[in-house]
Amino acid sequence: MKKVGIVGCGAYMDDGYGCPGEWRCYKAAALGEGKFDESSQVAFFMRCECPGRTLIPNMKMAMKLSDMKPDAIHMSTCMVKAQPGCPYYKPEDMAKMIESNFGIPVIMGTHEYV
Ligand code: SF4
Repeated sequence: MKKVGIVGCGAYMDDGYGCPGEWRCYKAAALGEGKFDESSQVAFFMRCECPGRTLIPNMKMAMKLSDMKPDAIHMSTCMVKAQPGCPYYKPEDMAKMIESNFGIPVIMGTHEYV
């Protein structure tokens, strides 16, 4: 089974508008729906925190402590399609930053539920 990491926008989660920290990302991963091409094991789910400075170090720590290197990292759907968008990073730039630090492909989005 494929192992994945998921990162969501902490600012959005804190606002509580159907945030990514509940069932949608997990359900899509479990069932291989949305942006998951197969049923996937979630190695870690982590929050980005404004202004995004801690994302890479926290992800390094998550991989070290869980002792699981994911096959792919998904940026949550609400992070990729945020309206208004993140004031600090374009999702594509954040994806490049993750890929260049870890050599792991980044997939834009998680689920397509409403
Ligand atoms: S830096 Fe952007 S993506 Fe990260 S928590 Fe803040 S608003 Fe969300």
